[in-house]
Amino acid sequence: MTDAKQATPAAALEQQICSAVEPKNEREWWAHREIERLRDRLSVETLALVETLARAERAEAEAARLQAAIEQAPHDKHCVYFEISPANDCDCWKRAALGER
Ligand SMILES: [Zn+2]
Repeated sequence: MTDAKQATPAAALEQQICSAVEPKNEREWWAHREIERLRDRLSVETLALVETLARAERAEAEAARLQAAIEQAPHDKHCVYFEISPANDCDCWKRAALGER
């Protein structure tokens, strides 16, 4: 009877399954190939996640930069609210940037 004390350690089983030279039966070869496939996929997915996180970080920095620019945007030179409203309460700069008047 096999109990936990007699069981082959997990690391040894992994080494045997992942070894390309260790003899294996059909099921063990399948497990070997499946582990390799999943590890390759994990590498690809991890790389994609790292790239996505880096893009998100750049987008957050750009959003903060644009928000600061909005808060400091002056009135457009043609704005009629120039003297009665602060520029950040006015969207003239936005309409001017979009080519609208
Ligand atoms: Zn304005």
